[in-house]
Amino acid sequence: MLIVPEREIADLMTREAAFDAVEKVFAAMASGDAYNFPVIREAIGHEDALYGFKGGFDRAGLTLGLKAGGYWPNNLERHGLINHQSTVFLFDADTGMVKAMVGGNLLTALRTAAASSVSIKHLARRDAKVLGMVGAGHQATFQLRAALEQRAFEKVIGWNYHPEMLPRIEKVAAEAGVPFEAVELDGMREADVIISITSAYAASLMAKHVSPGCHVACMGTDTKGKQEVEAALLARATVFTDEIAQSVTIGEAQHAIAEGLIGESDIAQLGAVINGTLPGRTSQEQITLFDGTGVGLQDLAVAASVVALAVEKGAAIEVDF
Ligand code: NAD
Repeated sequence: MLIVPEREIADLMTREAAFDAVEKVFAAMASGDAYNFPVIREAIGHEDALYGFKGGFDRAGLTLGLKAGGYWPNNLERHGLINHQSTVFLFDADTGMVKAMVGGNLLTALRTAAASSVSIKHLARRDAKVLGMVGAGHQATFQLRAALEQRAFEKVIGWNYHPEMLPRIEKVAAEAGVPFEAVELDGMREADVIISITSAYAASLMAKHVSPGCHVACMGTDTKGKQEVEAALLARATVFTDEIAQSVTIGEAQHAIAEGLIGESDIAQLGAVINGTLPGRTSQEQITLFDGTGVGLQDLAVAASVVALAVEKGAAIEVDF
């Protein structure tokens, strides 16, 4: 068995490799070559932790496995550790033997940023110039860094519920040489692409804040009850997702569905656009919206990719098992 420890991931994994892995697995999901197993998520009654498993099988890439982990809210304060903890296990699809154990913390941020980037590549207008950020937490910095590579953005505008956090994303924009401006939500009308990545349980971004032609990537809503954008925005937009079953239950679409504004058949898989079986954006005025709920196959895809890189660079630890 190979081990790729968390501490090695930053040196091994690139944004490009994460992007490729996620784009391929979204395509495989849409063509029926890959599927996600039902998600398990449990409040374990200890340390207020939420623990669970996300798994799947990609027949095309022969990637089989699961991500185990969750959220320990007291980690930072009590143990000096980050609150989200996860590990990916990969198995040999021919024999069932364990193949690799891979640190999953940084990979989660990279694969989530890759998902919105893949949506920008396939759905945003080619001439997009202004990138809007709603959110400035841990994931937001990864999201922004990856998104800036997808179009020739000339400006980043940002809004956050806690404005004191905005310098975190301003720093990322500055590193990329792109000017940053803090705006009110009304100011988001200037954006050609908006990424929302917050842990909110009520909408911040309303339909009136989004201009025609904008692409919106909703990345924060991954649980029942969470919500980042007004349900009416989904009714106005052409909606895409990573996985429809998750979009309607734990994704941003759960609210528009519950309010009867859209039906399940109004949501398309981004992978079908990647495969060319569905059109993506069909006009300059259309609003496209990607509901990125986060699937286990994304984790497996980036983990398999980092294992290959670790083997190539001699950084994988081999143990008899
Ligand atoms: P974080 O705690 O670092 O940041 C939270 C962000 O949400 C901050 O910008 C904060 O200001 C904002 N926020 C908090 N309360 C808010 C409110 N009431 N209204 C509006 N904004 C509010 O969290 P993070 O690690 O950046 O994660 C952000 C979200 O992304 C979480 O909901 C997390 O579960 C989700 N997530 C999704 C995926 C996926 O695949 N889709 C993957 C990882 C994380």
